[in-house]
Amino acid sequence: MELSKRQETILEIVKKEGPITGEQIAERLSLTRATLRPDMAILTMSGMLEARPRVGYFYSGKKPGQELAEKLHRITINEVKSVPVVVPEQCTVYDAVVTMFIEDVGTMFVVREGGLLEGVISRKDLLKNTLGGQDIHKLPVGVIMTRMPNIIYVEPDTSVWEAARRLIAHEVDALPVVRLVKAKEGQTDLEVVGRFSKTNVTRLFVELGEGGY
Ligand code: ADP
Repeated sequence: MELSKRQETILEIVKKEGPITGEQIAERLSLTRATLRPDMAILTMSGMLEARPRVGYFYSGKKPGQELAEKLHRITINEVKSVPVVVPEQCTVYDAVVTMFIEDVGTMFVVREGGLLEGVISRKDLLKNTLGGQDIHKLPVGVIMTRMPNIIYVEPDTSVWEAARRLIAHEVDALPVVRLVKAKEGQTDLEVVGRFSKTNVTRLFVELGEGGY
């Protein structure tokens, strides 16, 4: 983040003299408090300065960007996830396309009884098979889906940063959010409890830009 000359000066003053009130900073610079307000807002929102009521401003010692990085590691999938859209393995490609339109999603999860994850079906999986000349009224999604154990997923307490990293690293649009459940013979099943997609990342980005979180 680029700071203006005046913002650099304010940082220097607070570093040396903090805690210091807005009034005092304005006096040092021979400016009014109103003139300084946008600068103070930028410096506190970026986390470089902290403001305490009745005490004043002090220097947090944090580099620009560090605050945001900490937030992204702290916010969990549970706070931002969406409701999953699921279909059974026997669902036909035709019905899956219809569901995708009705539910307005790009990725659906294929589950068996108990909401246990079997596979993932994406827009292009469906597109490819509607062009393939097969009878999409008969073809079940179980035949064309990407299947376990090749599914990239996250758990509710995974950080949004880690989840977004997986989206990029594996070049996919969405991840199922799962809860691990013990199955027989020491195996683990994945119960689908949510959906995390690029839309969730974009929404969070907008909220962070508005000063939310
Ligand atoms: P699109 O088909 O719109 O390009 P994706 O890039 O998400 O959507 O999907 C690309 C391929 O990766 C598809 O074959 C899909 O089945 C598979 N896929 C999608 N999401 C996942 C996931 N979370 N884990 C593993 N494979 C996935």
